[in-house]
Amino acid sequence: MTTSLPDCDVLVVGAGNAAFAAAHAAREQGATVVMLECSPRAEAGGNSRFTAGALRVAYDGVEDLKALMPDLTEAELAQTDFGSYTEEQFFDDMGRMTDYRTDPDLCELLVRNSRATLQWMRARGIRFTPIYGRQAFKVDGKFKFWGGLTVEAWGGGPGLIDAWTAAADQAGIEIRYETRALELLHEGGRARGARVRHQGKTFALRARSTVLACGGFEANSAWRTRYLGPGWDLAKVRGSRYNVGDGIRMALDIGASPAGNWSGCHAVGWDRNAPEFGDLAVGDAFQKHSYPFGIMINARGERFVDEGADFRNYTYAKYGRAILEQPGNFAYQLFDGKVLHLLRDEYRIKQVTKAVSDSLEGLLAQLDGVDAGRALDHVNAYNAAVQTPVPFNPNVRDGRGTNGLAVPKSNWANTLDTPPFHAYGVTCGVTFTFGGLRIDTDARVLSTDYQPIAGLYAAGELVGGLFYFNYPGGAGLMSGAVFGKIAGEQAAAQALPK
Ligand SMILES: Cc1cc2nc3c(=O)[nH]c(=O)nc-3n(C[C@H](O)[C@H](O)[C@H](O)COP(=O)(O)OP(=O)(O)OC[C@H]3O[C@@H](n4cnc5c(N)ncnc54)[C@H](O)[C@@H]3O)c2cc1C
Repeated sequence: MTTSLPDCDVLVVGAGNAAFAAAHAAREQGATVVMLECSPRAEAGGNSRFTAGALRVAYDGVEDLKALMPDLTEAELAQTDFGSYTEEQFFDDMGRMTDYRTDPDLCELLVRNSRATLQWMRARGIRFTPIYGRQAFKVDGKFKFWGGLTVEAWGGGPGLIDAWTAAADQAGIEIRYETRALELLHEGGRARGARVRHQGKTFALRARSTVLACGGFEANSAWRTRYLGPGWDLAKVRGSRYNVGDGIRMALDIGASPAGNWSGCHAVGWDRNAPEFGDLAVGDAFQKHSYPFGIMINARGERFVDEGADFRNYTYAKYGRAILEQPGNFAYQLFDGKVLHLLRDEYRIKQVTKAVSDSLEGLLAQLDGVDAGRALDHVNAYNAAVQTPVPFNPNVRDGRGTNGLAVPKSNWANTLDTPPFHAYGVTCGVTFTFGGLRIDTDARVLSTDYQPIAGLYAAGELVGGLFYFNYPGGAGLMSGAVFGKIAGEQAAAQALPK
């Protein structure tokens, strides 16, 4: 066993949302904290920085939201129906989305701690704002929120990371950029920091406790192919190119137990010509999330999913996989003039794969790799099946579906008959992987003997067991914040003298 003095009380590997929550929680207990970020500062913040900053939080009504967002104006309050999103609804969504596989204890912590954790973040200088525009449409002069997703960080993902970083500077938390953790120091049955590399030099950083918060393995094409399956090497990575599974690998190497849905991931429709990894200048705008108001066709000209099965934030995370499974790994989203005003901002960026025409035939003829003749037959059959007497309403599951199609559309079905017609080319963009490390309710990493590995904690994407098959939007940042806070508190408690 070593006798060297530690370099810090708590070492946090990563500098995304989960890592910052852990670092701040540990620092508040009086621990000295060092964070490691393998990327240069200009790219720091991991996937968290690429997000829109949406956070899924349970609230009983507008008073709860006012406490989180005291900047809400009287006019906003008067114009908006925020409704409520109760803990029961959050539980139900987690259960339904994951086919009831979510770990009940971890899920309970996620749900019950969600509001208190945001309140805690607010006290650390993170500000929140309602997600107008993307999660609420104005109908009859009033915004109505839907889908249980109401709150986002001020300034989106970049704003969230900037605020966390400023607070870390103020709190005296040291962040070492361009410093990659290579392996855990594991002596006498305890994790004691990590062997790290900075500017080509390798050395040990010793700590009394270590928190792993360095993301999943979505940016590792070899691991994607190994665990998600053949074809996943061809998916585009929506976010950071640095999340290659290091934290998971380092913990498994010292006997940690794998947990959760290793063959599953969050993956969405993403611009067909987007680069291999995320581009911070574009952020999340390569995504194309307005498909519930149109239809999606593949190379054979056929629809292949129920675009209106549910609100966007309950289907988007699994439809990336469905697109990857199509011939050539791509699809086109089609819209007509009636719904163009409902398309999200991401449809109006200049880096977009788009076709426009005044006729359906003209539009379909422009789509690279698509059988235009079959597509026209298919769209005509779809148009004939739309239940037009049912009124269209984007704010509720309106039940305006199709009749008699092999692939139904359950809500928001509109005929494609009004020019201009738009088409957007999409492929699969992988967001983050679901499989990871097994933790307990104190965020301690468990070994394959189901015992805590002393001194080792984990939070964020690299925790397995919460998400299976699908995911309710906004739960990733929330889970990182909730478990990061717990991990930091616990790591400090075991590092500091009683
Ligand atoms: C485009 C996009 C949009 C999204 N939108 C949302 C949203 O609106 N709401 C939501 O809840 N979720 C969203 N997500 C998912 C969300 O980003 C993740 O769930 C969450 O950010 C994960 O946080 P994390 O702290 O675990 O990981 P990250 O934020 O990815 O942080 C991990 C960090 O670890 C660093 N790192 C990796 N390996 C090492 C190593 N060996 N040594 C040192 N550092 C290392 C990385 O550089 C990175 O900074 C989105 C994701 C993407 C890609």
